[in-house]
Amino acid sequence: MKNSYSNIFSFNKKIIKKTIKTLNNSDVIGLPTETVYGLGGNAYSKKSIKKIFQFKGRPKSNPLIIHYFNINNALKDVIINKNFIKLYKKFCPGPITFILNRKNNSKIYPLACANLNTVAIRFPKHNIIRSLLKKIDYPLAMPSANKSSNVSPINSKDVFEEFGKKLKIIIDGGKCKIGIESTVIDLTYYPKILRPGIIDKEMIETVLRIKLKNTSKNEKIKSPGMLKKHYSPGIPIMINQSNYDGKSAFIYLGKKYIKKKNFFSLSKKFNLNEAASNLYKVFRMIKKKGYKKIQISKIPYKGSGIAINDRIKRASKS
Ligand code: AMP
Ligand code: MG
Repeated sequence: MKNSYSNIFSFNKKIIKKTIKTLNNSDVIGLPTETVYGLGGNAYSKKSIKKIFQFKGRPKSNPLIIHYFNINNALKDVIINKNFIKLYKKFCPGPITFILNRKNNSKIYPLACANLNTVAIRFPKHNIIRSLLKKIDYPLAMPSANKSSNVSPINSKDVFEEFGKKLKIIIDGGKCKIGIESTVIDLTYYPKILRPGIIDKEMIETVLRIKLKNTSKNEKIKSPGMLKKHYSPGIPIMINQSNYDGKSAFIYLGKKYIKKKNFFSLSKKFNLNEAASNLYKVFRMIKKKGYKKIQISKIPYKGSGIAINDRIKRASKS
């Protein structure tokens, strides 16, 4: 595909070669995953990791997720356990991130893990990143390809909006299917969800055959980088709204106001997975249209609704 964005490329043999060369040179690139677009770099390279933090303006206390092709590649860096194996077998490759203890001889550059002795690992499902991971002999450290605290990108053009020509390569893989970030689960002790996603609590409980505790207030201690303000489109957001104020953009579920100006449905069919996949697209669209404020109606607190509530709550923090 030729396009006016000279650093956005379609995925083909030529671009694979160029991408690998760029990554080998400790440069960072924008690329799609099934959750959101990532800013990827060699997890073993000091230069790459420093660049990722610098490009994003990310606080050094916020660790990155390390992406692998499969379990065999991850064994070099982390100590696995039974719960990990069970979840890996069921959900990987897929939108779930595991916190595990780091091996002493791991080559991951320590800043990638915010100097903790734990590592967040994920096995992404998207065919583009999988074919890259298969061809390189290091994992990719990869946060979402947006400036720290902004909305995550779900299209290659969103990545361009964040970083412009600063990135040599942005690989286009269309719109991300899932559209919100992976579930993060800590498996270093009694399993605990640190960030909800579309692989939800009930699905994990069924596999592990245990009851998980609700995410508690002390999550900040375990997951230092989980900033309260995050995923923000840069304008005030009011959640759990029922009365329209007459001028803001109003986000809701269903099709009740489909013909009304200023109203944006996340899913006409009340499907919470679809709603999650549209959330960031709608945020960016509303911002571009020049609205000054967003009101969001109550979103059910079940399934992917828990992840949506987590993101909109953080986005609403000023
Ligand atoms: P992001 O890169 O924006 O998708 O965020 C990844 C999140 O994973 C971070 O904000 C952390 O909260 C969490 N995370 C990454 N590494 C660790 C770790 N070693 N321990 C706990 N949480 C982590
Ligand atoms: Mg992020």
